[in-house]
Order: sequence, then C-alpha cells, then structure tokens
Amino acid sequence: MKYIDLRSDTVTQPSPAMRQVMASAAVGDDVYGEDPTVNRLELLAAEILGMEDALFAPSGTQANLLALLSHCERGDEYIVGQLAHTYKYEGGGAAVLGSIQPQPINLEDDGTLDLDNVSRVIKPDNFHFARTRLLCLENTQAGKALPLEYLHEASVLAQAHQLNMHLDGARIFNAALHCNVPVQEISRHFDSVSICLSKGLGAPVGSLLCANKDLIRRARRWRKMLGGGMRQAGILAAAGIYALNQNISRLVDDHANATLLADGLAKINGIEVQSNGTQTNMVFIEMSHEDAQHIAKFMAKHHILIEGGKTIRLVTHMDISENDIHTVTEAFRQFFQKQVGQ
Ligand SMILES: *Cc1c(COP(=O)(O)O)cnc(C)c1O
Repeated sequence: MKYIDLRSDTVTQPSPAMRQVMASAAVGDDVYGEDPTVNRLELLAAEILGMEDALFAPSGTQANLLALLSHCERGDEYIVGQLAHTYKYEGGGAAVLGSIQPQPINLEDDGTLDLDNVSRVIKPDNFHFARTRLLCLENTQAGKALPLEYLHEASVLAQAHQLNMHLDGARIFNAALHCNVPVQEISRHFDSVSICLSKGLGAPVGSLLCANKDLIRRARRWRKMLGGGMRQAGILAAAGIYALNQNISRLVDDHANATLLADGLAKINGIEVQSNGTQTNMVFIEMSHEDAQHIAKFMAKHHILIEGGKTIRLVTHMDISENDIHTVTEAFRQFFQKQVGQ
C-alpha cells in the first residue's frame, strides 16, 4: 500500500528513467578527477548557476560546511539566521570542525535577516573580536522565497563591509520559480551557493557547491578531509544530471499542489493555515494542542505520513499527485469532523 508522505521533499523515489541513466553512467575515480559523469554534473551546475566551478558533495550539509570552511578561517565569524539550516540543523559543524564562530540573528517573517540587525552585529576590526567574514542566507527559507530587492540590498551591505556571501540554496529552484526569474537572478548576488539534488529535484543523493575556481579548489581539499571524496560517484551524478535537466520545470506542479492543499485545509474548522501564504512547496498549519497529539496517528491509519508538533509542515513533491492532495484534504476533514462529534 502506497503512503502519501508529506514529511519532506527528501522522501522521493528515483523514477525508472532516473535509475536507467544511473545504471548506464560512465564512471571513473572522482578523487582523481576522472569520473566523466561527475565532471559533467559539476560543469552543468556551474553553468546553470552562472558560477565558474562546482563541486559534487554527498549531502547539503557537507556542501554548506565546505563553503563555510572555505570562506572562513579559525577565529572568523559568519552571520546566519537562528533557524537557518547551516546553524541549527547541521550539528554545529562549522564551529566543531572549523573553529568558525556563528553569529546567529533572528529571522524575519519573510525569511530574511533584517539588514540593520546584520549591520549591528558586524564586528569592528579589533583584536577583541572574531573577524566577521561571511553573511549566510537561505532561499527558500521555510518555503519562502527571499525578495530579489532584498538580495541586492544584502549584497550591497556585504560589499561595504567586505563580507562574502553564501547562499544555502537547497531549494533555490523553488525560489526562482516563485519569483518567476532565471535562477541566476538569485545566484549572482552570492560568492557561493549550495544546491540540493535530493529535495524537490528527486535525485536519491547529492548536492553541489558552486563558486569561483579558487573557492572550489579549497573546498575540494576540505571535502577530501571530511571523507566526502567518492570514487565511482558518476552513478550518483547521473541522477543529478537527470534531475537538473528534467525536474526543475515540474516544480511548478509541487507549488500548485501546495496551494491547493493550503486552500483546502483553510476551509476546515480547527486548522489554522499560516497566514504568510504558501509560496512554494510547503504548507504550515496549526491546530489545538489536543488535536496535534492525535493527528499524525490518525493520518498514518489513512496511509498519510506527517510530522506531529505544534506547527506542522506539509511538503509537496514529485511523488504527490493532485489526486493525493484531495485524499489528504478529505482525511483532515474527517479527522476534524470526528473531533466535533465526540
Ligand atoms: C535539506 C537541506 C539542507 C541539506 O540537507 P542534507 O540532508 O544534508 O542534504 C540544507 N539546507 C536546507 C535549507 C535544507 O532544507
């Protein structure tokens, strides 16, 4: 029996066509730089993002860590959102492995870091302080696309203070789609961008760090040190090439399905759909504490997987159809009807 899995867009299964290109990929030893398929993927990603070079990494966590380690040295600092993936969900890797001090600040409702707040925490050049080196943004942030004018303003501020800019672009293609611009309209503001192949793009594994050649050279050294140098990785890279060529434009379906879900759930008494709008492939809902305790179990009985908790994140992806959205909406409706009847 199939489950409708709304927990994340990481849960997608590689399609038969994707498995086909993986099975027939030409491979070599990528640590020697000899895997033609990895090389092709890195070129393709760099070209799409408008960067000089790119590096294939086994995960987004590692791609972000490679960026932080390559931009910053021991005793440097990076400015980042309190709830940003790099700061909160990556085990503190930059601090543990790079002696890089994070300077977290609160995120605004639209996923941005207020630039006055950023200015305020940039430390003067003085031996009492860590050296502020890098501004790290995330796009999309909790499903929200950062406004393009904001990216411009942030880059002006960063330049004025000689900060580099890194983007955690795990879902940068969702952001570009929402803003209705080519992805380079986002990436051009940054010195480095990480992208995930294993989220909405549907590959089983892999991320890329995109930047100039000099930064990628440093990142390649760190990748080896972290154990991220993979050998015949072309099998995985082939899935990545397929994902970049075939699965970007179809993200529009995920966005449409998320909007459909949000609209359906908003009509149900007992569910509060978060009001800042469904921009990409995520819907955030809230309900009473009592309901929140039972909802995940009820849904599982209907072969629908969601995370429990106060705010529930529902994520659409390529293995969720429009029909599934109707099934899910109906299950929520039943749950809340039942609660009223009790
Ligand atoms: C998923 C994700 C990453 C990378 O996660 P991995 O599981 O390590 O690939 C980075 N940033 C954001 C915002 C993400 O959602």
